[in-house]
Amino acid sequence: LASRDFHPEDTIIDIKGVKIGGKEIVIMGGPCAVESAEQIDEIAALVKAAGGQVLRGGAFKPRTGPYSFQGVGVEGLIMMQEAGKKHGLLTITEVMTPEYVDICAEYADILQIGTRNMQNFDLLRKLGTCGKPVLLKRGFSATYDELLNAAEYILAGGNPDVMLCERGIRTFESYTRNTLDLAAIPVLQQLSHLPVISDPSHGTGRRELVAPMSKASIAAGANGLIVEMHTDPDNSMTGDGVQSLFPDQFAELLQDLEKLAPLV
Ligand code: PEP
Ligand code: MN
Repeated sequence: LASRDFHPEDTIIDIKGVKIGGKEIVIMGGPCAVESAEQIDEIAALVKAAGGQVLRGGAFKPRTGPYSFQGVGVEGLIMMQEAGKKHGLLTITEVMTPEYVDICAEYADILQIGTRNMQNFDLLRKLGTCGKPVLLKRGFSATYDELLNAAEYILAGGNPDVMLCERGIRTFESYTRNTLDLAAIPVLQQLSHLPVISDPSHGTGRRELVAPMSKASIAAGANGLIVEMHTDPDNSMTGDGVQSLFPDQFAELLQDLEKLAPLV
C-alpha cells in the first residue's frame, strides 16, 4: 500500500484545509517538549507569526535515560490543543504506547511516532484505526525498506494518512548528533507516494546547521519540515535546546524558504 507501483499519484493529506504532500511545503515548529501553558502559547504565537502551519510539542517524551524529564503528560495535550486553537495552528505530538493513542488522537491533529518506536508493531497497528494522520519517523538505524514496512502496518490497518519523516541516522560521525540522510527524501518519494517531511533539528543536533539543512531538504524535494524552536533554548527542559532555533532565526528561515517553495 505504501508503494508507488500500487498508488502512482502523490498522496495529499488534507487536515482542516492544510494540504500536505503537494507542491507547497508545510512547516511544523515548536519546542521539543511542552513545558507550561504560557510557554506553548508564546511559542504558538511565534510559529503563526512566522508563517508556520503546525505547532509541534511533546507531552510524552521518549528519553534515553529514565531519570530525565519525561514530559508533562496529558496536561500537555490540553495546553497544546488550546494554543493551537487560539493561534489557528494544527498540532502534532508524539504518542509512545498503544494505550495513549486514543487520548492523543482526541487532542492532537497529527500523531508523531518517534525514531525509537518505528518498529513498535503494537503501536503501529493501533494507529491504523486512530482516525488521525500519522508522522512516522525513521528509526535511527532503519533502512528505507524497514521504514516503508513500518508505514505499511499503519496503512494496512486502515489509515491512509501517513507521512514519512527523515530525522537522521546513526553513523560514525560524532560532530553531529545524527546524520541527516538527504538522499532518503528523493528515494522515499520514488518508492512511495506518501509525503516526506525532514527533521533537520534531530537530524543534526546543532542549531547552526538547522537552516542550511532545512534549505537542502526543500531543494531535495521534501514536502515539509519539522523544526524545533524555543524562546529560551538554554533553559529548555530537554537537552534539545542546543538544536532549537531562537524565534528570530525561525522567522528568518521561513522567509528564506519561501524563496525556494511556496508555504502551504
Ligand atoms: C522529537 O521530535 O522531539 C523526538 C524525540 O524525535 P525523534 O524521535 O526523532 O528523536
Ligand atoms: Mn526533541
